[in-house]
Amino acid sequence: MSHVHPVPPAAPRRPLILAEGVNKHFGAAHVLRDVSTRFFEGEVAVIVGASGSGKSTFLRTLNRLEKHDSGRIVVDGIELNDSVRNLDAIRREVGMVFQQFNLFPHLTALENVALAPRRVRRTPRAEARRAALELLTRVGLADHAHKHPFQLSGGQQQRVAIARSLAMNPKVLLFDEPTSALDPEMINEVLDVMKDLARSGMTMVVVTHEMRFAREVGDRILFFDHGALLQEAPPDAFFDRQENDRIRAFLGQIL
Ligand code: ADP
Ligand code: MG
Repeated sequence: MSHVHPVPPAAPRRPLILAEGVNKHFGAAHVLRDVSTRFFEGEVAVIVGASGSGKSTFLRTLNRLEKHDSGRIVVDGIELNDSVRNLDAIRREVGMVFQQFNLFPHLTALENVALAPRRVRRTPRAEARRAALELLTRVGLADHAHKHPFQLSGGQQQRVAIARSLAMNPKVLLFDEPTSALDPEMINEVLDVMKDLARSGMTMVVVTHEMRFAREVGDRILFFDHGALLQEAPPDAFFDRQENDRIRAFLGQIL
């Protein structure tokens, strides 16, 4: 078969999140130091680094749970600033999954997932419940939809929390150590759900100590060191051809 028209060049990748020279202080502590990076549509970026290096703070600035002191953060073209309208728009586009699942204890799994669409989007009840059941099915919990959080294992609760984030149809999902509070035997069921999401093309920024996940699923690894983004590299370069002594020491401790 001959092509009459030349193959068009690949579309340039679109940065969904842009961070430029981001700084953050807590009192005298300088916890984010000139952090600049971009997160592209469909990309899985994994953030690693020692405890206290600023990983959570950085993630939280991306959806304005923390305010940055200087620099720019732009999410899908929306500048993160003091505009309430911008903040509302960002919150709809950026989902977040925490170490502690933060489910509402008095609501069933289904109600937890359906709540935000009902409240924020005014989705009719029947439709919100149908969509919630679909999401719970996607995370393997269709049979547990009617249960309350206390009737679910930690791994199941975290999968409900992921379904809940997805219910708002976010453009990007932020994960802050989503498996750190789980018993070891439950970690993989959550990582598997995250792998499925990654395969489906979801844009994800994941803070984790799960280096196998980082290597297998990450398109790019970011290493934070004392508030600075010391390095970003593809997984093979990061893990197999690491030349930075500080990062080698970190990997030596964790692997
Ligand atoms: P990580 O997630 O990499 O462990 P954090 O972003 O939680 O690191 O913390 C970075 C630094 O900021 C730490 O020194 C921590 O003690 C400090 N910090 C984080 N949150 C606050 C806060 N709300 N108030 C004061 N200091 C904080
Ligand atoms: Mg943290």
